[in-house]
Amino acid sequence: MSVRCSFEDCKCAVITVDSAIKVQLPGQAAETFQLMRGATATSEQNEFLLVKDVWDFDNVGVSKQIPPGLLVDSDRAISFVWENKPWTIEKCLKYLICAECDKGPIGMVCQVKNDHESTTLYLLSLSSLTV
Ligand SMILES: [Zn+2]
Repeated sequence: MSVRCSFEDCKCAVITVDSAIKVQLPGQAAETFQLMRGATATSEQNEFLLVKDVWDFDNVGVSKQIPPGLLVDSDRAISFVWENKPWTIEKCLKYLICAECDKGPIGMVCQVKNDHESTTLYLLSLSSLTV
């Protein structure tokens, strides 16, 4: 099963659901990062696909550098659980956009950390896409 661009005249396949890990982000995540909301999105949906390697995507575009105003400040920290560890988004580095029609943002490239390590991940917003 593929996750696709939500635009009727595009429907570009972004990723196969099986090759990614589903994570729940807090409610303010989509708003904080000003992500595009798909036509069928509801405010309760904050499911993201966590992708470690850009080559796991079928098609994805990466935007230019994000505006500095969208960096996460510590009092608005966004945390999530992955592999039973709590992670915090330190910085949103870039946006993910549709590779075909450039619509988005549909997710972000993030610098995340826990108590012991720091890494870069791709977080794809399921409510910005069509399954
Ligand atoms: Zn598209």
